[in-house]
Amino acid sequence: MKVYLDHAATTPVDKEVLEAMLPFFDEKFGNASSLHAYGREAREALEKSKEEVAKLINADADEIIFTGSGTESDNLAIKGIAFKHGKGHIITSKIEHPAVLETCKYLEKKGFDVTFLPVDEYGLVKPEDVENAIRDDTILISIMHANNEIGTIEPIEEIGEIARKHGILFHTDAVQSAGKIEIDVKKINVDLLSMSSHKIYGPKGVGALYVRRGVKLEPVLHGGGHEKGMRSSTENVAGIVGFAKACEICRRRMHEDADKITRLRDKIIKEVLKIEESYLTGHPTRRLPNNASFYFKGIEGESLVLMLDAKGIATSTGSACSSKKLQASHVLLAIGIRPEDAHGSLRVTLGRENTEEEIDYFLEVLPEVVEELRKISPMWHKK
Ligand SMILES: *Cc1c(COP(=O)(O)O)cnc(C)c1O
Repeated sequence: MKVYLDHAATTPVDKEVLEAMLPFFDEKFGNASSLHAYGREAREALEKSKEEVAKLINADADEIIFTGSGTESDNLAIKGIAFKHGKGHIITSKIEHPAVLETCKYLEKKGFDVTFLPVDEYGLVKPEDVENAIRDDTILISIMHANNEIGTIEPIEEIGEIARKHGILFHTDAVQSAGKIEIDVKKINVDLLSMSSHKIYGPKGVGALYVRRGVKLEPVLHGGGHEKGMRSSTENVAGIVGFAKACEICRRRMHEDADKITRLRDKIIKEVLKIEESYLTGHPTRRLPNNASFYFKGIEGESLVLMLDAKGIATSTGSACSSKKLQASHVLLAIGIRPEDAHGSLRVTLGRENTEEEIDYFLEVLPEVVEELRKISPMWHKK
């Protein structure tokens, strides 16, 4: 049996999405900037796509900028505000995705000040910590909506209120949450919000940045002035059409999918915690419907992932980006897990195509694999 349980890394492209995209690789190949019929057809598809993406987060079409990825959206939001101001202070958290963390570290080198807020044992940022970190020169707060490794959902409504009260711009990386849980940008007081297509059954290489009307950004890409001058590049029309279709499907199926996925996830959590010395990471309830993440004492997450892979099961340890480095995950360290325990982490992220049978197979295989690894582990000292 082949079971894909790594949807936080990427998702399969939905068949309906693929169908929607195909004509734009074929007869509808026009450049959306061209004046002729081919161009107008592409432009129209682009405008319709903007409306569809906007609807998912209750924004307006003119507040959406298409980018090349979630990473680019994060870069554009943070560098865009930073370079518009020229100097100042940024508040973020220690558990952000590298697309935010590394951008902030880069800006530190360029003379900006950055506060990296700690989180509690569940990965939650405390809104009062955000408020206490605000200075006269604070230009931006960037706190993710939901964490990609442990699934914890941050209190972004409260943080948005604080940002609004102090007149500071607020960005959130919603790459993991958009399409999975409700987002209403009008409710959460957010000024900038990042999304990515391939995390929600759309194609890779497409993202979006919501920019609240009136918020001014310095572009990162200079050129022909596409996307109101905020992101020059000939638009990836096929990819954008696919992303929009993926958003439409998420909007249609959000509750149905979330119910089914939550039930499977809770079954996983309940069964996995029966394995001795296994621990859940992230918040017990304030977490994404599809995320179940753990650590197991006495084993290496990498070995666990490879052993599961040999049985046809795809999972990850930490995140796809950090699992290539042999460092413990910055997220797990930030929630207070000891480095040697953090190395034994496993992330299981479900998707809408997963079945009960697949989960049962995983739950049958996992305890055997954990036991096998512990038998040969010098780190496992059984009494
Ligand atoms: C995947 C991810 C990104 C990066 O998105 P890409 O489209 O893969 O560049 C950013 N933030 C979070 C939280 C993610 O999970």
